[in-house]
Amino acid sequence: MSRTVRTVLGDLDPAALGVTDSHDHLFIRSPLLPGQELDDPAAAEDVLRAYAAAGGRAFVQWTPLGLGRGADSLAALSRATGVHVVAATGAHQAVHYAPGFFPESDEAETEAAERPGPYADLAERFVAELTTGLPGAPEGVRAGLIKVAADPGPAGRHTRWTLAAAAEAHHATGAPIAVHLEADGTPHWILDRLHGRHGVRPDRIILGHLTRLPDRALHRALAAEGVHLALDSPSRTGHPGDHGAFEVIADLVEAGHAHRLLLGADTTTRNARAAGGPVRLLTELAPRLARSHGPELLDLLLTANPAAAFAADWRTP
Ligand SMILES: [Zn+2]
Repeated sequence: MSRTVRTVLGDLDPAALGVTDSHDHLFIRSPLLPGQELDDPAAAEDVLRAYAAAGGRAFVQWTPLGLGRGADSLAALSRATGVHVVAATGAHQAVHYAPGFFPESDEAETEAAERPGPYADLAERFVAELTTGLPGAPEGVRAGLIKVAADPGPAGRHTRWTLAAAAEAHHATGAPIAVHLEADGTPHWILDRLHGRHGVRPDRIILGHLTRLPDRALHRALAAEGVHLALDSPSRTGHPGDHGAFEVIADLVEAGHAHRLLLGADTTTRNARAAGGPVRLLTELAPRLARSHGPELLDLLLTANPAAAFAADWRTP
């Protein structure tokens, strides 16, 4: 079977994906960002229309379960605007959930086979969202991506269990796994866990927020492992056109890793959306990249690389 990108309107030939914002949010709500909820379908439609007018053709939303991902609206928005939308399953850090969603277990540290409470059937939930449909969505609207997150500092049990569940769901379905990294997080530990321990191939893994980690040698080492690296400037403080992203891209291109790089705006707040969100990715960052590196690099980062990163050999367990 040939590889396809699983969008909210069905499976798509990756060659038809087009210019892609590889990490963003139309809908997201977190207790950590009060008053900044992205929860309005009309506002999301405006964003997609402006993004399409700027040349955008595909939009990958990294909002996992339980964070108001707009499951009931995504298919209608994609149909109305003509933009391909990929939705996510998976789970963010426990702090992004209301108390009790992922209750703390007082059991001693356990491994994947013994995941307690809400973690016990987490992989099954991920699989159902990837193969049957998202709860609250019209029939057949499925996730095409598993989103997980690293902790700031050493990984806690929530992270170990969600990584194990994500790997299990990946093996059952073929879905790619996208990882939110923290500035002081441990990407090699994440990779060692997903790849070394759970057997997920590096080219099925997308590491996000690379610009939060200022270590160039680390970037090069991660790219050399074969993972995809998403350059998605944190929207709370920065902009898609910030200098950090340019320098990281230039360094990785020079090191021969251009085919590993993805671009995203990662719009997580109303303020970031008001500042341009995904449109800025195409109207500011993209032209600057084309001027400095040539249009071929832009085509790679916005079109060819996302088509490779998000396409999967989908299986139904
Ligand atoms: Zn994000």
